[in-house]
Amino acid sequence: MTQNAWHFCFAKVYAKVLGTLAWRYVYEEGYKMFRELIELARAKLRVQEFSGKVSCGQVSAAIETASGQLFSGVCIDTSCSLGICAERNAIGTMVTEQEFKITKLVCIKGNEFIFPCGACQELLMQLHPENAELEILVNDNGSTLKLKELMPYWWGNT
Ligand SMILES: [Zn+2]
Repeated sequence: MTQNAWHFCFAKVYAKVLGTLAWRYVYEEGYKMFRELIELARAKLRVQEFSGKVSCGQVSAAIETASGQLFSGVCIDTSCSLGICAERNAIGTMVTEQEFKITKLVCIKGNEFIFPCGACQELLMQLHPENAELEILVNDNGSTLKLKELMPYWWGNT
């Protein structure tokens, strides 16, 4: 094998190791950024039934504000459409504390990460202009989507 071939082989192995380390770093850092929110959301995920007409806790959401505060909420489901989503429940507590700008959102149903519904997306967008940039956790690999990616043609931008 020529010296160039050895260098090429070495470069390929080096790139593979670096690539693996880079992927691992991205994965772990991405997950770490959301770990506290995931744990908070999971801690509140607990189905409870009340009165035969109301239940809650099937979905749990946790948000981090620009100032670093965390808020959580669970969904409330009723037999006559008076319920509220976990995200809007968390937003209500956040707004009560005079916070409006969100940087991260985690929403969990069972073992799945889910997206906020259209009504929650709309409220998030209207709460603060920079909420369009907030990151929503997509899966436990640490992948995220920005709110604006879910609403590319939002009416408020026209
Ligand atoms: Zn919703």
